[in-house]
Amino acid sequence: MKALDDLPQRAREKKKENQQFFKKLKKRPPKNLDYVMQELHEAEFERTDCLECANCCKTTGPLFTQADITRIAKHFKMKPQPFIDTYLRLDDENDYVLQSVPCTFLDAQNYCMIYEVRPKACREYPHTDRKKFHQIANLTQKNVAICPAAFNIVEAMKHRLGLGVRR
Ligand code: SF4
Ligand code: SF4
Repeated sequence: MKALDDLPQRAREKKKENQQFFKKLKKRPPKNLDYVMQELHEAEFERTDCLECANCCKTTGPLFTQADITRIAKHFKMKPQPFIDTYLRLDDENDYVLQSVPCTFLDAQNYCMIYEVRPKACREYPHTDRKKFHQIANLTQKNVAICPAAFNIVEAMKHRLGLGVRR
């Protein structure tokens, strides 16, 4: 998929500009930021077919909260500990993450096999419609190299909000 092949390169090219933009955004977030993000997020995901991509599931995977673990283990009729032992590991920040990527629960057609009970982080990825978006500037700057939709949303934000960023 072309949009994915050159995404890391395009993200690298935008790195400085994005750093400058998010620095300004964090300093003075516009009053209507939540509204703008909702609009940009919805417009982008109307055009985006995640089933043609699945790059988040293939390359990063989510954090699993205790609630996620309990819910998903129950779905497999497992107790939480054997579920953890089978699928998860603790990362450097002591969060549960997948033992390996691509995610074990992604099928060959890019469908999530546990869609109804998937982790909260998967439901919310790439977090571009969350409130107070400026608070996840660092995470978003990483996500633009993984998620073509997040990349496009950040580009649209720069056009829409300006903030005096030299482009
Ligand atoms: S959320 Fe982003 S990275 Fe994940 S499948 Fe959709 S477009 Fe691709
Ligand atoms: S649990 Fe589902 S949505 Fe989450 S990374 Fe795995 S396949 Fe993707």
